[in-house]
Amino acid sequence: MAKKYTGQCACRAVRFEFDTDPDFIAVCHCLDCKRASGGEAATWFGVPAEDFTVLTGEPKPYHYVADSGGKLDRNFCPNCGSRVFTSNLDNFPGQVFVQLGSLDHPEMITPKLEMFVKRRLPWVKPLGLPEFSDMPY
Ligand SMILES: [Zn+2]
Ligand SMILES: [Zn+2]
Repeated sequence: MAKKYTGQCACRAVRFEFDTDPDFIAVCHCLDCKRASGGEAATWFGVPAEDFTVLTGEPKPYHYVADSGGKLDRNFCPNCGSRVFTSNLDNFPGQVFVQLGSLDHPEMITPKLEMFVKRRLPWVKPLGLPEFSDMPY
């Protein structure tokens, strides 16, 4: 039986699932999320790595050092290039950060905060959520 949440990359080669109802769900306006996503912000959330299962495909990790100095792996589909999830985060051990837009039912998860609002562009309306200038913690 499938887990509660399922998702996939744009070409459907990479498919994944997890059961955890996420608690940390962020709209992040940092420059890094802008570049990696190609949009003004990226929406992502944390789930425990042990609950996160890749069902099909072989996402390729891009090893990366964030502005904070923390290392992480951005995992993307080598076929279509979709960014799907982030793992091996120095600063969040045991957590995988999943890109909301890759869910089959993204309406099931609602953001709880906005972060790096110092990088939010002037034409973006605040969402009315708790805001953090940079990292929330
Ligand atoms: Zn793909
Ligand atoms: Zn970010």
